[in-house]
Amino acid sequence: MITLYVEENNPITPCFYNSVLNNLQFHQLKCPCGQSGCLSVHGYYNRYVKTEDGKVMFRICRVKCDQCGRTHAILLSSMVPYSQISFQDHLQIITAHEKETLSSITLSSALSFDESNFRYIIGMYLKH
Ligand SMILES: [Zn+2]
Repeated sequence: MITLYVEENNPITPCFYNSVLNNLQFHQLKCPCGQSGCLSVHGYYNRYVKTEDGKVMFRICRVKCDQCGRTHAILLSSMVPYSQISFQDHLQIITAHEKETLSSITLSSALSFDESNFRYIIGMYLKH
């Protein structure tokens, strides 16, 4: 996986993701194996992220390294690997948990997911 760092105030929308990819200099990307200039587009897959506007589909780009042969998904820093919940929302839930102000009812209505999502995020946070 390759994470592209974006400002937190950027919207987490497919349009924004696509514009970042369109402006990306693929030859300047570095593979986790340490090589640069060896990545080319390998394909795309669909991934969903829960946002204020509901579940939104992203067309995630995969690149392949011609040095190590591995493929990597390109994600934005506002996305959390293996999670449909954005980094911002993770932070909001963890902050509320730390401050012991977590009320899943208030948060659920503000965000668009249920209590099992909260328990999972807090569990992962405590584990790591
Ligand atoms: Zn590589």
